[in-house]
Order: sequence, then C-alpha cells, then structure tokens
Amino acid sequence: MIKISRSAVEQHLNCQRCFYLAYKYKIRPHSLPFTLNSAVDNLCKNEFDHYRAKAEPHPMFLEHGIEAVPFAHDKMDDWRNNFKGVRHINKEDGYNFGGAVDDIWQKPSGELIVVDVKSTAKNVFDWEDTYSKWEYAKGYKRQLEMYQWLMRMNDFEVAPEAYLVYYNGKKNEPMFDQKLTFDLHLVRLECDDSWVEGEVLAAVKTLNGDAMPPAASDCPNCNYLRKRWEVSQKDPKNLVD
Ligand code: SF4
Repeated sequence: MIKISRSAVEQHLNCQRCFYLAYKYKIRPHSLPFTLNSAVDNLCKNEFDHYRAKAEPHPMFLEHGIEAVPFAHDKMDDWRNNFKGVRHINKEDGYNFGGAVDDIWQKPSGELIVVDVKSTAKNVFDWEDTYSKWEYAKGYKRQLEMYQWLMRMNDFEVAPEAYLVYYNGKKNEPMFDQKLTFDLHLVRLECDDSWVEGEVLAAVKTLNGDAMPPAASDCPNCNYLRKRWEVSQKDPKNLVD
C-alpha cells in the first residue's frame, strides 16, 4: 500500500522526475520551514475554533455574505494535522491518499466548504491577475479540489465552491512597532475535483514503475544543474567542495 500525500500528487503534476526522486529515493532539495506562514495559519485556526465552539459564523462570513459556520466534527483536529489529514484508502488500487485541510465550514444545507489559509505580502493584492500568470496559484485551486475529493470519498456532501482565506501583510506602514498587520481577502473558487482520482492513480503508477520519468522542460533548476555539470566536466577544480 503506497501512502501518498496531496503535495506529492501536486509535485507529480509539476515534474514527474522530481516526484520520483523525492518519493522513491528520498532525494529532495533542502527547504526551510515557512514559520511566519505557519503562525498565520495557527492564529486563524484559533479564531475559527472560537466561532466553531459557539456554532456561530465568523464575522468575515457575514461581511462576505457566506451562509455557513465553522464545521464541528470529532475528526477536525485529525483532518488539520499534517501527520494525519483527511485520508482515503483504496485497497484495490493499493494507495492511502490524504492531506491536511486548514478548515472546513458547513452551509445550512449540510454541504461542506473546503478552506485553505494563505499569507503573502504584496503591494497590490490582485488574485485574478496572479491566477492568470502564476502556476502556483493554479496549484492552490488544485489543492482545494483534492481536499474536496477526499471529503467526498469520506461520504460528506461537498459544496462546489471553496475559499482561500488570504492575509496580505502590509509592508509599507510608517512604523513596525513589532506588529505585522494584514488585509484580509476572501477568494471564492468554483472547483471541479473530477480529475483528482486519475492523477492520484497516475502518481501511484509512476512510483511503482522502474524507469526514471521525464523532467519538466520548463524548470530552471535542472538547466542550472546541467550547466554546472558541463563546467565541472571541463575542469574538476570547478567542482565546489
Ligand atoms: S526539471 Fe526541475 S522539478 Fe524536474 S527534476 Fe529537474 S529540478 Fe526537479
């Protein structure tokens, strides 16, 4: 049984080779933890939990005309835990797929709204522009769709809309005063999770395969490595210790 995460499937979509190296051979570039983003996620979680306990809508729902309350469920903490998450086990196809949600809201109809919290610091926050230009923004939508599919596979009714709760840090304030202030943007996305199962199966198939899959053609990192290798081939002294 292959255990596979939401972020692994996203990586498979972006570059099969990096996915294969990371999940078959545990070879991946070193990355630093996003501690400031985690702090925002956690503060936001605390706020949602406050309204969840009271079964009341968060003021941002009222402000944006969202009829919902934070969803109260025994498994909420597991679903939000990076080491657990919402999971779907498919014994027939041999995978255990899952990912950790940031939050889930519930509409009066019972349908669930999947939510992810993001933070950034832009002079001008323009989601439409960002979405049209940047692949990572499309990845955020895919992230929500994967969570939607997981909730559906756990027998919940899921609303087609999902939200990014986006905090934009104000970086041009006159005084810092040890306080970072944010604008809040609620991004509503109309989602379609019909592609998810196929991509999970494709990622599992790649992982089960013996051949090194192709690298993405448009990634600058492999080109950097190739050029570096060419230089070091000409003179081994060019290799950095
Ligand atoms: S193309 Fe980029 S993402 Fe793919 S293997 Fe090379 S470095 Fe990794």
